[in-house]
Amino acid sequence: MSGRAQEELEKELAMEYQVLTYADYENGLKDGKLLGLHCSSCRKITCNPMPVCQWCGSRMLERTELSGEGVLETFTVIRVASEGFEDDAPFIPCLVRTREGPCVIGRLAYDTEQATQDLIGKQVKLTGAYTYKGDRYSGGERICPIFSVLE
Ligand SMILES: [Zn+2]
Repeated sequence: MSGRAQEELEKELAMEYQVLTYADYENGLKDGKLLGLHCSSCRKITCNPMPVCQWCGSRMLERTELSGEGVLETFTVIRVASEGFEDDAPFIPCLVRTREGPCVIGRLAYDTEQATQDLIGKQVKLTGAYTYKGDRYSGGERICPIFSVLE
């Protein structure tokens, strides 16, 4: 492949990634929005952002905003944090199945002393964004959604 064709291919790929970049996703969280991608092939939603639909692999994606509502699929309470996350403990990483379909990893805003398995299946809603510093194994600071249980 000639240098020029390679350059054009890379540019094209970069454009596809820019429908919704990870930075856009994180900025959305800061604004209280859960952003994802709507697939015009299978009509499902992809979240977190990816260059292809997580369900069918199509690249026909458009940016969309999710409701921020979902169901708590599972969680755990971290009391002994991994290196670099000592200041965060105790905390609750959680997996939420959004109303629109995809599962999203975040943190659960809940009293770590009161959290039991009874929380699984509860309705939750996006209520904020948490910035974590990252550790020596990660690429630095990242932002994740905070979900709260709706009673
Ligand atoms: Zn699709």
